[in-house]
Amino acid sequence: MKYIGAHVSASGGVFNAPKNAHNIGATAFALFTKNQRRWQAAPLDARTIQKFKTACARYNFLPEFILPHDSYLINLGHPQQEALDKSRNAFLDEMQRCEQLGLTLLNFHPGSHLKGISEDDCLQRIAESINWALQQSSSVKAVIENTAGQGTNLGYRFEHLARIIELIDDKTRVGVCIDTCHTFVSGYDLRTTEACQQTFASFAEIVGFEFLSAMHINDSKVPLGSRVDRHASLGAGEIGWDCFKYIMQDKRFDNIPLVLETTDPDIWPEEILQLKQWAQGINLQV
Ligand SMILES: [Zn+2]
Ligand SMILES: [Zn+2]
Repeated sequence: MKYIGAHVSASGGVFNAPKNAHNIGATAFALFTKNQRRWQAAPLDARTIQKFKTACARYNFLPEFILPHDSYLINLGHPQQEALDKSRNAFLDEMQRCEQLGLTLLNFHPGSHLKGISEDDCLQRIAESINWALQQSSSVKAVIENTAGQGTNLGYRFEHLARIIELIDDKTRVGVCIDTCHTFVSGYDLRTTEACQQTFASFAEIVGFEFLSAMHINDSKVPLGSRVDRHASLGAGEIGWDCFKYIMQDKRFDNIPLVLETTDPDIWPEEILQLKQWAQGINLQV
């Protein structure tokens, strides 16, 4: 079964996200559990946690189809110790917030070397950061997202994801989130069914579908291999509908959150509906 949704607003409180997701016809969703552009956030209080759990139950969202995303400020591969420690503490706080909310996944961008250390040193540092956070928490899975490869961000090659996973002590608590836009702009073609077959065969070989814990479903405003992160609405970018149809009709993408981060929230209901119809084998273009 396919679980499809979008990264919805949690404005006013995390407990508003499940309703926002339900209102667009979603069966999965992503959210920030705190302001994603700030280091500090007030701890979650008991009432907020209870309201969130009640809303998830009311709208039928199980934890495995909810994909919290961490703050954009965190860099688990930072070359300088002080900044690295700050990131590690913030990441652990994100993980603890997820555990308090009864959530089981935490989606994050691996990190950037900022030209201060080599790529492999940075990947090792990222893995150390993840191991450290996993040791101090009990249940959340660290879900590494592939990136667009903008600037000095790592995680834009499947090999980067595989290298981090290789260094993680508890493999049951690490997974990946593949973003279709990031995959495409980092040089993996997704424009045709054949291209998708090839790209995901290479993913299967290098990383493995057993680690696939979520997908971000986005089209791209910029061409193949551009290495910049510019999302577009489905079918309105350089990737095109074939890729999204391919994913919806392939069982390897079952039972994980498939989350839109497309640029026009007003059409999320239509995008979700189209994806659902393909998942059910109905061929109806929006
Ligand atoms: Zn992301
Ligand atoms: Zn992106």
